[in-house]
Amino acid sequence: MNRFVRTMAILAWAGASCCAKADVIQCVPHYAKEGAKCSATGAANRSGWAIRSNVLTAEHLYVGGLVRWNSAGRIEQVGCADVKTDERLLDCPGEVVAPGFINLHEHLNFGADKPLPPPAHPLSSHRDWQDDPSLWGGKSAPWTLSGQLIGLVELRHLLSGTTTIAGRARAKGLTRNPDAGWFASVANITFPFGKHGLASSDHCRDRRILSGKKPTLVHAGEGTDAESRAEIACLLDNREALAQSEPLTLVHAMAVDEPLAARMKGLDVSIVWSPRSNMFLYAATAPVDVLLRAGVSISLGTDWLLSGSATLLDEARYAQSLSMNGKALSDDLLMDMMTTHPAAAIGMRGQLGELSVGAYADMVGFKLHEGDDPKRNILSSDTHDVSLVLVDGKLKFVGEGASVALDTFVPKSDCAVLPETKCAPNGYACGARSLKRALKRPDAAEVLCPVTGPVNTKLQFGAAPFPS
Ligand SMILES: [Zn+2]
Repeated sequence: MNRFVRTMAILAWAGASCCAKADVIQCVPHYAKEGAKCSATGAANRSGWAIRSNVLTAEHLYVGGLVRWNSAGRIEQVGCADVKTDERLLDCPGEVVAPGFINLHEHLNFGADKPLPPPAHPLSSHRDWQDDPSLWGGKSAPWTLSGQLIGLVELRHLLSGTTTIAGRARAKGLTRNPDAGWFASVANITFPFGKHGLASSDHCRDRRILSGKKPTLVHAGEGTDAESRAEIACLLDNREALAQSEPLTLVHAMAVDEPLAARMKGLDVSIVWSPRSNMFLYAATAPVDVLLRAGVSISLGTDWLLSGSATLLDEARYAQSLSMNGKALSDDLLMDMMTTHPAAAIGMRGQLGELSVGAYADMVGFKLHEGDDPKRNILSSDTHDVSLVLVDGKLKFVGEGASVALDTFVPKSDCAVLPETKCAPNGYACGARSLKRALKRPDAAEVLCPVTGPVNTKLQFGAAPFPS
């Protein structure tokens, strides 16, 4: 280990001091370089390859670290390692490579719609907006039925670093979709009590909503009224009565109070938090301070474009902008909410949301900002700062900084050039044939770069969302 210079805290890893929190391991001296493009070495046409870059794992930032994976797309090695003779290697000193984000709350079928006009007054529960004529003239929300559009919505998420989406739909060859397809490993249930809610406690007892044997995501407690609270209590009763042991995650769970939060912790139930959508519709959101104090695990989700964020990174920034008493959520916690927490919520801890041996090679390369802590670097990135995205060790996006990868690591013929837009990076989307036609649609740029309106960040009612 003597060739590694290991330090804590202050260390010049990119020519400037940085990284107050990350434990930095310098694998290659003077390696990191802002603005440097990737280079490629090694022979083509071999299975499995490797990336050398500034690699962020749960414990360390490896400067000049290596991630090596096999032909099954599983990581075999992470950290400081020598490059093998003739090894196929993409070498990216100008990037920070991190695990791909996991978004457990998206409705891909609505992802190409226009954002809603703000409701005239804060709503009380999902039952209000489902019927509110001021929002959609008395009709229900329109669906994005086209497979091409779903592909473009997935691409929008990929281009901002999300590699796994539980979105009740899927496009072939893009993000990982644990809740879609014939053999979905995750059950994803929307509004199990319907539009009219729980008629009585008997009505709750009779239901066997959680009788399945899969990790489950279920919409519950979307609203601030007593009925929203009753939905949560009912599902916790169900979990106890049916002795369900697979991971259970409540989507929204706004109507939680301290006793319910304590029950959730006791029953090992987590939540997916979608603050932008909640604040837009209800001017309130889940009491994150109560949930954190109780020890409940929280993941972030975008909900849908009609009232939520266009990307998970946007959602993280919105979450951080909500401040109570001058406090905001930490970068560390927000990163966990997009990686390790959602991985655990779908029973895939150790396989997704981290760069570790045995995990899937789902990775994102963000342009390095010299002097930033690596997590701040990532959270302050916009889509122009994403240079490469891999799912299963296969390139799904190749940006300008990594263009050398075309024809070396992915045939250019498998890729489609992205249209010029205000927000999407220049580069190529790869690995999904349907995208070539989808990207030629006149509405492609609008789907990739939707305009979302402002949402207030002041809580008008509901519990304070931050730890005090
Ligand atoms: Zn939803």
